[in-house]
Amino acid sequence: MTYIRELLDRCDTRIELSFVRHRPTGTVHVVTPADPDVEPEFTAAEALSVEQAVVAYINLARSLVAPTLCGYDPQVWLDDSGPDEIVETFADGDLCSSCHRALGPHAHRAFEHPQPLQLATAEQP
Ligand SMILES: [Zn+2]
Repeated sequence: MTYIRELLDRCDTRIELSFVRHRPTGTVHVVTPADPDVEPEFTAAEALSVEQAVVAYINLARSLVAPTLCGYDPQVWLDDSGPDEIVETFADGDLCSSCHRALGPHAHRAFEHPQPLQLATAEQP
């Protein structure tokens, strides 16, 4: 049993999947969701040295999302200039097949997203 399948077996309805598009290829990956039963650990900013705070900020700024189910580590930057972008709407055909397979019996969850409008069809002569 993989982490993602166990997590979705236990907390399916409490987890909202999120997706990132790798701009150069157009492939959409599924971001590994956090376990809603585990409290994230935060270190109070006052407890950090200046160097630690700077490193923490740079890490946050460079990557706002967890690795994807297929193991890709997306780079979503605060100013949205990174190689990856968070998306909610995408065509099913753009979904990464490895991420899709990783969901196992929960694979249908990867298709619970809005589809883009059929602009491509409208633009063709
Ligand atoms: Zn993937």
